[in-house]
Amino acid sequence: MDHPVGERVKIIATIGPASADPKVLARMLEEGVDAIRINASHAEPESIADWVAICRKGSQIAKRDVAVMLDLQGIKRRIGDLAESLELKENQKVVFGPRGAGRIPVKAKAVLPFVKQGSDIFLDDGFLRLRVTKVKEKEREVHCRVVRGGTLPSRAGINLPGVPIPSKIPTRQDIRHIEAGVAAGVDLFGLSFVQSAKDLWRCRKLTKGIPIIAKIELPQAVAAIDEIAAASDGILVARGDLAVEMKPEELPVLQKSLVTSSNRARKPVIVATEMLASMVYAPRPTRAELTDVGNAVLDGADALMLSDETAIGHDPARAVRYMARILKHVENSLLEYNIEMPRLLGDTEHRPDWAVADAAVDVAKEIGAKAILGISGSGRTIRLISAGRPSVPIYSVSPDPAVRRRVSVMWGVNASTVEAIPDPDKLIRHVLQGLKRKKHLASNDRVVAVFGSPLWGEGTKTNSIRVATVP
Ligand code: PEP
Repeated sequence: MDHPVGERVKIIATIGPASADPKVLARMLEEGVDAIRINASHAEPESIADWVAICRKGSQIAKRDVAVMLDLQGIKRRIGDLAESLELKENQKVVFGPRGAGRIPVKAKAVLPFVKQGSDIFLDDGFLRLRVTKVKEKEREVHCRVVRGGTLPSRAGINLPGVPIPSKIPTRQDIRHIEAGVAAGVDLFGLSFVQSAKDLWRCRKLTKGIPIIAKIELPQAVAAIDEIAAASDGILVARGDLAVEMKPEELPVLQKSLVTSSNRARKPVIVATEMLASMVYAPRPTRAELTDVGNAVLDGADALMLSDETAIGHDPARAVRYMARILKHVENSLLEYNIEMPRLLGDTEHRPDWAVADAAVDVAKEIGAKAILGISGSGRTIRLISAGRPSVPIYSVSPDPAVRRRVSVMWGVNASTVEAIPDPDKLIRHVLQGLKRKKHLASNDRVVAVFGSPLWGEGTKTNSIRVATVP
């Protein structure tokens, strides 16, 4: 049992060409990464086992066994592979179509039926904007004029705001990725372009109990956020696509409202994209970026995600170090001024497990406990405690290393594995002794333990609270 005590808000880093090296990853983990994201949009199913192996090797070097999330691409429209990035200039004419000289490769059925003369096409999270001048059905070509130019990278995303997505997720490619992810032992799946809870239910038939984080990047997902949060194991505010699919100026309030919805459903929430974007090239973040990171903490996020900063940035470990520095300082300031994180929990809807976890957070406050101890076979109890945003550390124990890894992305959780001792009092005593040895707790400290009794039973829900004193 080893209980690392880190920041309350967690860091997820995307692996890519700049960090596809166990030694670089190990440095990122040492700087504070709690989970690594593999973006399936840039990784063939056959390569997933290799990507996971690199992550696990990095973990071994850093001696921190963190979660690996495989982010499924869903029905993201993308251009095809380019030999190298293209520079598109304002007013330049470009043609999308089947691979061939002078064309930007794109699957005709993904774009052609959905655009007409005058339609806007956004590329690469909306950096580039094109206007359709002609659609040539027979040649399967879409002719455009560049309205806002820039660099177009290979496999850049295409956004057609307001255009419905006709196919269902999981797509055939998602299914191959899910199978590869399950076989490689990933800890979490991300699911892009979720439109309703049904998308999650369909994926659950294949994901073998591995939690699924729903990425919110479409207006229809925003409209259905409560049912999606309820059906998922967490949500991710995918600001890149969201700001193109909706109006960019909606983003600040939308972020707060999505964080609130997720917290109300007692599900972890990740805020993502361009958090420290300038650090892809620059040695330090802009003032706006560091304020954005700090504000996401104040909004109540469980975790923040780095994308290009660690996937293609010039110094991935440095980007992580900056993020960890900001988190640490903001969190310490909150503690110093006794500012509690807002507890945004919705009604318990008469669920005993929700009510017990909420009560444990209240008891801890009432008696001045120094910590809450969550004992969990699946991670559910830990999720419910974390959602209550207690002001004391949450120590999570589970016999299953996969559970330890997956709860590490939840707010305030310090997770470790423990022997599956069946008697709760013996187990609590054992864990408290360990925490005392590591100097996280001292003799006579009070702790509130939360668990489902009988311990380690299939499907046992959170039903018990014990107040214990460190021996
Ligand atoms: C986003 O759109 O913000 C996002 C996280 O998704 P992706 O990186 O897969 O485009």
